[in-house]
Amino acid sequence: MIYLWLLLLHEVSFQLLFMSAAAIGILRKYRLHITKQRVLILKAFMSTERSLDLQYFLHEHAYPFERTTVFRILKLFTKKNIVYRVCAYGSDRYLLLQNGKRKSTASGRSTFVCTRCGKAITVDTITSPTIKIPKGFTRSDLEIIIHGLCPTCKQ
Ligand SMILES: [Zn+2]
Repeated sequence: MIYLWLLLLHEVSFQLLFMSAAAIGILRKYRLHITKQRVLILKAFMSTERSLDLQYFLHEHAYPFERTTVFRILKLFTKKNIVYRVCAYGSDRYLLLQNGKRKSTASGRSTFVCTRCGKAITVDTITSPTIKIPKGFTRSDLEIIIHGLCPTCKQ
């Protein structure tokens, strides 16, 4: 029993260690200074499928982050395309882009936003809709936001 517990503990710490290494790897790739806060924020994104926001880091995360620090890091990560920002019901939510399957493509990005809890997840866009742009305007990005209920809220 104790052995099993130790094995489990080892597994958890190994996972944490692995995530730290992966987070540091991402920061290095983007030539960003490695700070404890940046690693912690990246790790939080890497350990979840859902969107995270400023409120999460200020009230739910175990580390006592400062508002301005989180704000600056999220802004930096967005600029570097490490995370992607989606505005849902007046609050900005962020999703990790560096996940292989969650890469943003030239065809645009699609996000599903739950109208009840505000959770946001990225969804694959199979075909990008053809939208006629008025004369003189140039399209640089396309963002599709689907509103609905997540499995938890649907119950
Ligand atoms: Zn929901």
